[in-house]
Amino acid sequence: MRTLNIHTYGIVQGVGFRPFVSRAADTAGVFGTVANRGSYVDIYAQGTDKQLDAFVDIIKNAPPKRSVVLGVDIAEIEDAPKYSSFEIIESEKEYGDIFVSPDIATCDMCRSELFDPKNKRYLHPFINCTQCGPRLTIMDTMPYDRERTTMGEFPMCPDCAAEYEDPATRRYDAQPVCCNDCGPEVYIIGSDIRGGAAITETRRKIMSGGIVAIKGIGGFHLCCDAKNTDAVSRLRKLKNRPNKPFALMMKNYETVCRECIVKDGQEAYMNGWQKPIMLLEKQPDCTISADIAPDNITVGVMLPYAPVQMLLFDYPDDIEMSDCLVMTSGNVRGAPICRSDEDALREISSFCDMILSHNRKILLRADDTVTDWLFDKPYMIRRSRGFAPLPIMLRHGSGKQVLAIGGELKNTFCIGKNGLLYPSPYVGDMADIRTVSALSESVERMCGLLESEPEVIVCDTHPLYNTVAFAEELADKKGIPLIKIQHHYAHILSCMAENGFDGKVIGISFDGTGYGEDGTIWGGELLLCDYHGFERVGSIDPFMQSGGDISAKEGWRIAAALLDDPALCTKLGICSETEFKMQAVMSAKKINSVLSTSCGRLFDAISAILGIRRVSTFEGDASTALMYHAEIYERKSVEYKKFDTPLIYEKDIIRLNTSEYAKNIASRFLADVQKTDELAYEFHAVLSDMVLQACMDIRKKTDINTCALSGGVFQNRLLVRLCRQRLEAAGFDVLLHSVIPPNDGGICLGQAAYGTFNI
Ligand code: ZN
Ligand code: FE
Repeated sequence: MRTLNIHTYGIVQGVGFRPFVSRAADTAGVFGTVANRGSYVDIYAQGTDKQLDAFVDIIKNAPPKRSVVLGVDIAEIEDAPKYSSFEIIESEKEYGDIFVSPDIATCDMCRSELFDPKNKRYLHPFINCTQCGPRLTIMDTMPYDRERTTMGEFPMCPDCAAEYEDPATRRYDAQPVCCNDCGPEVYIIGSDIRGGAAITETRRKIMSGGIVAIKGIGGFHLCCDAKNTDAVSRLRKLKNRPNKPFALMMKNYETVCRECIVKDGQEAYMNGWQKPIMLLEKQPDCTISADIAPDNITVGVMLPYAPVQMLLFDYPDDIEMSDCLVMTSGNVRGAPICRSDEDALREISSFCDMILSHNRKILLRADDTVTDWLFDKPYMIRRSRGFAPLPIMLRHGSGKQVLAIGGELKNTFCIGKNGLLYPSPYVGDMADIRTVSALSESVERMCGLLESEPEVIVCDTHPLYNTVAFAEELADKKGIPLIKIQHHYAHILSCMAENGFDGKVIGISFDGTGYGEDGTIWGGELLLCDYHGFERVGSIDPFMQSGGDISAKEGWRIAAALLDDPALCTKLGICSETEFKMQAVMSAKKINSVLSTSCGRLFDAISAILGIRRVSTFEGDASTALMYHAEIYERKSVEYKKFDTPLIYEKDIIRLNTSEYAKNIASRFLADVQKTDELAYEFHAVLSDMVLQACMDIRKKTDINTCALSGGVFQNRLLVRLCRQRLEAAGFDVLLHSVIPPNDGGICLGQAAYGTFNI
């Protein structure tokens, strides 16, 4: 007879976890107790080896549907009392006993009630239950009960109240529960069309080629028929978004399969409770407008996750509805997503013909989550609705409370408390002042919800970031210390934290741009890291980045600097002779020019050299197009020409010989311009070879055998695959992202981890 003390961390409260543990104990025949203890569930289990094995197996492998088990710690207890039954111990809510759930997509049971004419919630646009519905976006303060959500304005009718109070119903303790008699209502702004008529009017408008702003769970979307090219192009013009792909919402999974190529494992994910936008390859004969994702083999697709969206596709009226709709965030470029009628009228009413809103308030914005797919699991691009604020668990660290402000682009922030790090929903790009005030408001709201009193604030080192100014002000106001950590180091820490790794790694931080410790621009770095500091041991070969902000959009400028050959540049159509001269003068006189090791800019330059994109019309345009060309070649062949001198050894730093390679690839491309795809692939392969060579050298000197891949450039699936393949073949352990984005949306986690280890 042995006794185990088991701590289960994660979303294990409010999801029926304790009754589940009790049933598991009955099944396995063990005795003991289970109780909620703040951030974990505390279990004592007594039995024979065989019984305990069976019990632990159930806990680990068959937890309740809605729970998210982040970690299970098991300790052997000596001299335990003898138990004679298995009991659930009711615990008082302790201070700091926090459970904040993400928003959950409408479940199958609610969906079938929604379309059942005999059901009391037939066609109710706000149907939900204990297992589904809005959570984070409607919560005001803790604890989570109706008065403290935006549903407080809608008193329950007697029927709903009875269900809410009866443990036997599906709506027991479901705070947002409501029905056609007592719930919120949809309406068209500026008219008296409400309820079902508003849904019909919206469907009619969309099918007649119109654009409608529609309020959802975490904010407004702009919506039009994805098969109507005129409507799509009009939306592009209005939103001033010439090429960037639009996300789609499709009626159901069958539609997705008809339009896109779906891989094994993706179905469960798309149909699951989080319903992210998933990047999928288009079918060759897909019916959506080519203008949805121009020059792009993939498209972002999600399934309806809110009842009002389901009703858009399916409503008992005479309108024949499209099964593919554009569902792009309702915001002004760079500004946060609109969440109130006032926001929508002020900011996006000129982008649309009509606004379908409702009177349930959104307190915290949550954009749609976007994810790619890599090694048979999701690979996060933007982590927001359905994921935030699920925490990442750190096993060590100080347990002090941390607020990490995150980066300037794709901002998210992170609150650390009791060894759990809670990344926020997506906030946005801080160049827009509206986003800065959204950050300030969201920080306050999330700290309130998590009952967090930060003891330290962590931010980036960039002197011109709005987030840094905000962090300085806040630390000052609260009278608490501020720690600034280097951008690319924070990227690597985020990857380590996500993987629960706390040793030393060779961090490969390939990124757009960040502020380097020597005042130059960094972004292609090899860093020896642990949670206490880093050493820069390598980088790509520095080049002159001229033109300030424009150089991030105009890859030809970097190409011109790398090639340093006006004749070659004009022959390849990279720039005119005048443009070349202007660039050369700027960099010679150091006008708006700074030394850079940005890997993102290197990708832009290679894209320009190979004639793929001279200029990016949206972030990542040139580099993703380069990846598509490389993937096309990869499907036919994986042969490529190795590059002879991959590394340059400087005094105390290794440089990947990328500048010389750029010249090499340019002259070979000039000799045979048919080789775009092959050379695009070769570039990815050669860069991975360089990474491998450098890592092997570093391992020789340091004995460090773990590599971590992070930074925005690692949104590039092909580069991740090639790097991992090579590194693992050479015996390295490789840490990759999955649930946290490799881009700047993830750095708040690295900052927060640093904070908890260094106060
Ligand atoms: Zn439900
Ligand atoms: Fe970054």
